[in-house]
Amino acid sequence: MAKFYCQCCGTDRSSVSSLTSSSCSKNPNGKYHSLYEGSEKSKYTCKYCGTDRSSISSLTSSSCSKNPNGKYHVPAM
Ligand SMILES: [Zn+2]
Ligand SMILES: [Zn+2]
Repeated sequence: MAKFYCQCCGTDRSSVSSLTSSSCSKNPNGKYHSLYEGSEKSKYTCKYCGTDRSSISSLTSSSCSKNPNGKYHVPAM
């Protein structure tokens, strides 16, 4: 089954609507999860600093010193 991930925290849901209707504690721009529109990868890289992790949730749970909009790493598409 397809999984849709939040780019801010790595939460996954089976549909976009269920993802974007639940609230996100890490989205700096709004209160709901924000869809990660890139493809599923074995490694996710932060678009601001290049740090990589094996999952979106582990990437977004560590803080980024180069993100101008928020405090956590943000996966590149
Ligand atoms: Zn989220
Ligand atoms: Zn980063």
